[in-house]
This record gives sequence, C-alpha cells and structure tokens, in this order.
Amino acid sequence: MKVTIIGAGPGDPDLITVKGLTLLQEADVVMYADSLVSEDLVKRAKPDAEVIKTAGMHLEEMVDLMVERVQHGKKVVRVHTGDPAVYGAIMEQIVLLKQAGIGVEIIPGVSSVFASAAAVGAELTIPDLTQTVILTRAEGRTPVPETEKLKDLAKHHCTIALFLSATLTKKVVKEFLDAGWSKETPVAVVYKATWPDQRILRTTLEHLDEEMHKNGMRKQAMILAGWALDEHIHEKDYRSKLYDKTFTHGFRRGVKS
Ligand code: SAH
Repeated sequence: MKVTIIGAGPGDPDLITVKGLTLLQEADVVMYADSLVSEDLVKRAKPDAEVIKTAGMHLEEMVDLMVERVQHGKKVVRVHTGDPAVYGAIMEQIVLLKQAGIGVEIIPGVSSVFASAAAVGAELTIPDLTQTVILTRAEGRTPVPETEKLKDLAKHHCTIALFLSATLTKKVVKEFLDAGWSKETPVAVVYKATWPDQRILRTTLEHLDEEMHKNGMRKQAMILAGWALDEHIHEKDYRSKLYDKTFTHGFRRGVKS
C-alpha cells in the first residue's frame, strides 16, 4: 500500500517526467494544490479519476483522505509543484502516512530553479566563476536556522537561488550587501517560469526591490543572484575545462598548448 508523490514540474504540463505522467494517467485519485499545479496537467488523469484540490485542506484532512482511499485499494497520487524535495512540505505527509502503515514513492520533477535558469538562458555554475549553487529562502514568517542566515550564505559569493522570497527583497538586498556583494551584482527574477504569463526581470542587487515592486512580482517568483546571471557573460571568455583542448579527462586526452 502506497501513495505516489509526483513532481509536476514548474508549470508547463509538458515538463512532467514520462514516469510521472504515466502514474498520473493510471491514478484513481489525484490530489493537487490548485493554483500551483496546472489544470491542463490534471486534466490528463483518467476521466473517471477522483480529482481533489487540496489548497483549502489541512495536513490531517489530506492524509486521512489518502489513507482511506489507499485502504480501499485505490491508486493515489499526490501532485506537487516543481520537484517535491525542495519546499514541498512532503515529509510531514510521509511521517503521518508511515504511521498509518502506508509507504510513499517519490517521482522527481523539474524544479522552478532549473526552469528559471533555462528561461534566462543561464548556466548557474560557470567555470572559474562559481561552482556552487545555494538553494535557500529569505527568512519571513517561516524561520531559517541560525547557521543559514542569508548574510552568511552569501559570503560564499556563489550563485544563490531564492525560493519563497518575492516579498522579502529589501531584506535580501541588505543581507547580500552586508556579506560584501557589490550593488552591481546581476539578479534575474523569473515570475511564473514556463506558465503562459511567464515574465523575466533582469536587474542588479541595487534595483531588485524597486523593480520587483514596479513589476508586481510578489509571488511565484524565483530570484537567481550572482555573477553567473550576468547578461553579458557570452561576451566574456568563460570556458569550461571539460571542452578545453589542453585539459585531459576521462574521455579525452588533452593536447599540449
Ligand atoms: N517544489 C517547488 C518549490 C515550491 S515552494 C519547486 O521545486 O519549484 C514555492 C516557491 O517556488 C515560490 O515561492 C517560488 O519562489 C518558486 N516557484 C515555484 N514555481 C515557480 C515558477 N513557475 N516560476 C518561478 N518560481 C516558482
């Protein structure tokens, strides 16, 4: 007996995995958080599938429903936006399901962080510039552990992807500046990546807060910050060692320059 948690991808219904779609199409019960998961994707469920919107439900209500349906022999899938592993709040469901003797299988999805990078045509790890991406959020009503304050994370000067932070940009900017980032640091914001009303904002740390206000990007926005987001990066000569002709690696012997 199990529930399958499926990553729906960032919005575009075609961005679910083949495996996720197959399981969705086979399901008797489909649960999803409306507004975050595309209706067009949910429509691909069997015509007689029971489709349940969960946005208005609390955790126990949702889990009780899953348990009841699974115990009646139904195939239950829970569709989550992006990839379930980041800010998916899946663990609290898994714990309760386990207590009820129900297992969970997770099918990964395309996270909005990667859909947003694709939308702006960025590589988040540019050789010789940064080899690290931090996925985090600014502290708002939800606390962030003491050792993970933005100001401390930003000291790594790597690429930083901020989830759930669209209304907290004043704070974000202050913490980045406190960590020593320059005001000119490029920032790309993608609002509703891969949805028909996707919008892209390219700005700098200095103008981030005002530009987000001006553009009305106060939710469902991914903030990507760091020099890897430099719009003019193509004009610079950042080259990966992997393709460098003088570099020997597992698949190719380098030539002497
Ligand atoms: N599990 C999801 C994240 C859920 S938390 C994932 O992997 O993408 C919700 C946050 O994710 C939003 O506040 C926003 O920061 C980001 N997000 C989700 N979908 C998005 C989209 N289509 N475009 C931009 N940001 C998105």
